[in-house]
Amino acid sequence: MTSGPKVITIANQKGGVGKTTTAINLATALAAIGERVLVIDVDPQGNASTGLGIERDNRTVSAYEILLGEAPVSEAAIATAVPGLSIVPSTMDLLGIEMEIATASDRVFRLRNALSQPDTRRFTYVIIDCPPSLNLLTLNAMAAAHSVLVPLQCEFFALEGLSQLLKTVEQIRGSVNPGLAIQGIVLTMYDGRNNLANQVVDDVRAYMGDAVYNTVIPRNVRLSEAPSYGKPAILYDLQCAGSQAYLNLASEVIQRERGAKAA
Ligand code: ADP
Ligand code: MG
Repeated sequence: MTSGPKVITIANQKGGVGKTTTAINLATALAAIGERVLVIDVDPQGNASTGLGIERDNRTVSAYEILLGEAPVSEAAIATAVPGLSIVPSTMDLLGIEMEIATASDRVFRLRNALSQPDTRRFTYVIIDCPPSLNLLTLNAMAAAHSVLVPLQCEFFALEGLSQLLKTVEQIRGSVNPGLAIQGIVLTMYDGRNNLANQVVDDVRAYMGDAVYNTVIPRNVRLSEAPSYGKPAILYDLQCAGSQAYLNLASEVIQRERGAKAA
């Protein structure tokens, strides 16, 4: 897969930790830096699709058709308002996919197979937004990825959830994707006035070391407003602290990819 795009899966089995916000804004930031980026929305809730301005009526070919093997990525990818950023949208049909491909021997590899086709080579990065569970959709995303990026909310149970996710990554390495790396862990919704948040940041850094990005995403109301306008925050308000943080995160992600290539 060396000539294809870098595939990064955004995963955390917990809901509401900033996966989708990270997928949308990291992808936009990468595109702003000049990368050619594809977001794949495999969450049936479709928040990444909505947040990138794709109306439900326009989601005619989606991640569902890709997982069924009925359409190639190029047919499902839709251009967004962000130059250099496309998205494969999600539909509610994804709720039924588990049943539909349950007995197929390649059920975990459907997304990987689709991404290994030549039509994905026009992208330099693929960012996959996962549902808040470790189901077949998340497994497909992890089997297809070079690395996992984990958003972690600065709250009391953060570390507990993290160890569960790291166990899953270990299992994936031992089975379907031996090369799966941790791209990094990003602390989200950080509020510096909250002592507990500071404690969580210290604990996660002590436990995970260099895996944690230097960039911390602040709690920022602009980040939560932007999706209701169908825009990534970076288009909605470039100067806000949230947008600036995601631009910094994108530089760190690119630096790590270059480092991984050189190593
Ligand atoms: P997930 O995809 O993990 O469920 P989301 O990215 O959808 O999480 O975030 C959950 C909610 O929190 C959303 O309403 C989102 O707009 C909001 N949110 C996410 N990150 C931030 C942030 N840094 N500051 C403020 N609100 C945020
Ligand atoms: Mg989400």
